[in-house]
Amino acid sequence: MTLYRKYRPKKFSEVVGRDAIAKILSQEIKQDRVSHAYLFSGTRGTGKTTIARIFAKSLNCENRDKDKSEPCNECKSCISINESRSQDLVEIDAASNRRIEEIRELREHVKYVPSNSKYKVYIIDEVHMLTPEAFNALLKTLEEPPAHVIFILATTELHKIPETIFSRCQHFSFGKVGIKDTIERLNRITKLEKAEVEPEVIKDIARRSGGALRDAESLLGQILSIGKKITSKDAEMFLPKVGFSRTIDWINFLVLNDSDKSLKMLEELEKQGINLVFFIAESLETARQMMIYVATKDEDRLKMYFTDDEINNIKQICENISQLRIRTIVIELLRACQDMKLSPDIPSLPIELAVIMICDENKINSPQIDHQKSKKEFIQNKNNEVEKNDFSQSSNVFVKKDILEEENIKFDKDKAQEPKKENTYNTVHSLEQILDGWGEVLTKVKDKNQSLNFVLGVAQPVGVNGNILELGFKYKLQLEKISEIKNRDIVENIIKEVYGIDYHIEPVITEDILQNYPAKPSNIENKPEEKDKFVEAALQVFEGAEIVS
Ligand SMILES: [Zn+2]
Repeated sequence: MTLYRKYRPKKFSEVVGRDAIAKILSQEIKQDRVSHAYLFSGTRGTGKTTIARIFAKSLNCENRDKDKSEPCNECKSCISINESRSQDLVEIDAASNRRIEEIRELREHVKYVPSNSKYKVYIIDEVHMLTPEAFNALLKTLEEPPAHVIFILATTELHKIPETIFSRCQHFSFGKVGIKDTIERLNRITKLEKAEVEPEVIKDIARRSGGALRDAESLLGQILSIGKKITSKDAEMFLPKVGFSRTIDWINFLVLNDSDKSLKMLEELEKQGINLVFFIAESLETARQMMIYVATKDEDRLKMYFTDDEINNIKQICENISQLRIRTIVIELLRACQDMKLSPDIPSLPIELAVIMICDENKINSPQIDHQKSKKEFIQNKNNEVEKNDFSQSSNVFVKKDILEEENIKFDKDKAQEPKKENTYNTVHSLEQILDGWGEVLTKVKDKNQSLNFVLGVAQPVGVNGNILELGFKYKLQLEKISEIKNRDIVENIIKEVYGIDYHIEPVITEDILQNYPAKPSNIENKPEEKDKFVEAALQVFEGAEIVS
């Protein structure tokens, strides 16, 4: 018997990671206020049918006290359900019974009263597989269910459930089971099996299962089939080496701009036989979670993916990381994941490239970022002073600009002292000079094309290389708009008018936008909705992304 069946929870209290759902259902049972139709949705292997069976068992348990919700697991009804031979719990797999004929048959079937119990419970698994006609037939039954009948519909694809069905059911969403709960569950089973498994292996299994408990248990079962004492080495037969435990360390090297250590670690991992394709996919997931954490500070989300120790580690790393930097890391890793498909012969190349890009870019940018940051703070402080002195709006802007110029001089001086990496380009204007004239560009664009002005208003020059002017956008949609030749021509012509030189604009996606630039409102940086928008955009990026897994 598989571990999953052997240790399938028999009571609500044995179910892992489903506390809220179990609690509500228990309440309904205790108060004798159960619905006639339930809809359980969620990924496969997350406990939908397990909960459905416990629920059915509890309702029909002969020994259950009225104010209790747990089944006894000893009475005739409980035992017959546990042994899958109950007449009053009917499990239907809609994947193989999807036609109207079968649902019609079901409609006839529900008319009969339960043979030995109070309720007849029908669990229809994968209910989204029903044909539209079958759904219609089912709907008729759901509209007027006999008092003794309870339907529990389960699905992995909620969006395929017709609204008419959905609206007649009490809906429960089964999210993924968090890693901590999964580890606990696996440890319990290991103990019950009187086996010993190295903690790293348990963690590895939990992580691989991606929140599906059934997958985790089945993997553990496979591994335990070779013996009762399992080391990491034994587990390798079943688990291709991914190096989950190393992803956080590796990303930390990237955060620290340490290309040397990052590359050495990759080399070492490869020597150990770790599949770099998996490793990068996992690193991307880790970086993604870090990025979302930096934006939201939502620790609960981390708990789904990481153990407590790992979360502490991540929080420490995230303390000193800017959104820009973690985003750069995510973008480069995402690119590496995609590029790996293009270079199957040298899988390490795209990753090495990513490391160089991340670390190098940060080295070039970080002094500049610091300058911009201190400059921003300086301006902000000055602004506060100005506001305190109650100057008029126009003088406020004037002062701001003044300070910006003063700071520019300082900025340029500092820059001159650095070894200039971008010296190979013949920069016609400095970025600061471009920024100074940008307000004029916006004004002129506004005169020409109102909608284009809207798009350009959220963009900002972020770099000048020769006669290429990099224009930073937060969102792809806006970037695409400006990339249209007609729009590009308008903007380039105006840029020429303002700066006297032909610049080609190159739109790029970036968050590195100088919020304090005088042509923009200066207080948008910390608005919560801005952050939400960012997360939204980040999630959007991943929705459409193809990640090697
Ligand atoms: Zn019972």
